[in-house]
Amino acid sequence: MRRPPGRLVLVGHPVAHSLSPALQNAALRHAELPIVYEAIDVPPPALEATVRRLIAARASGNVTVPHKEAMARSCGRLDRIAERVQAVNTFRVAEDGVLEGANTDVGGFDALAREVGALRAGARVAVLGAGGSAAAVLAAIERWSGATASLFNRTTTRASALAARFPVVDVVAATADEAVKDAAVVVNATSLGLRADDPLPVAIDSLAPGAAVLDLVYRTGETAWVKAARTRGHAAVDGLYMLLEQGALAFEWWFDISAPRDVMRAALTAAVRA
Ligand code: NAP
Repeated sequence: MRRPPGRLVLVGHPVAHSLSPALQNAALRHAELPIVYEAIDVPPPALEATVRRLIAARASGNVTVPHKEAMARSCGRLDRIAERVQAVNTFRVAEDGVLEGANTDVGGFDALAREVGALRAGARVAVLGAGGSAAAVLAAIERWSGATASLFNRTTTRASALAARFPVVDVVAATADEAVKDAAVVVNATSLGLRADDPLPVAIDSLAPGAAVLDLVYRTGETAWVKAARTRGHAAVDGLYMLLEQGALAFEWWFDISAPRDVMRAALTAAVRA
């Protein structure tokens, strides 16, 4: 086991809504580690000074919106996946004092895909969105043997820029309908679905028969898109499982012990219901 950090934090803005403290504190209690995971709200102009304080405190932790890319630039060392995504959602301070960054969203997405049997060699995947989580999704998909992707984003220039970084994307589609028409796996990596009155990221009618539906977004009682897709016979799963797995992988990277996934899953389920 690695030496426990001086502090364990989630850095984001806003962070009050986050389920990560419930998830991580359940795991810490179960492992009898005498440390509490705390969410700290850090507005962007305060990030640099906060990072300096966290390094001095030998802190480990997670990073969420909007700091993942800036945190990657602050790290002295990145693991191969964080380097590929150019975003960090998990950090620690190494014995030599260097801030190290990792990206467990990629492994979290693989677990989400595995959950509905969508992690398949040669899969045709449609990705909706072109932000940091879409980059993590593409970094996962490019490791699936023979997989290819179509990409759609509301702001086309962002989609084109992301496609230029990830050759697994062979089509930047003009519409969401076009992106999904031949896809066996459809991923929502936009923030649509967070609010009850959001439109669906793409109409269920536009999906290919049997396409698996993976929503990175989660909310109490599942997202409207996942519910609608399942009603129409598609295998569908929301982002709660990805949240669980990215947290479990982070826990294992900080402490070098197995994460108690059952305990974490129970805590997450209770927190999302509350
Ligand atoms: P981001 O970098 O801010 O990107 C947001 C994306 O959503 C962009 O592609 C944006 O399009 C699109 N978007 C926002 N509002 C839209 C609208 N009204 N119509 C169409 N597209 C819209 O955020 P992110 O970090 O990639 O995260 C995206 C979502 O994934 C968030 O909801 C986040 O909670 C979720 N997520 C979940 C997990 C998990 O563990 N389950 C992990 C990471 C992220 P434009 O470029 O046109 O603005």
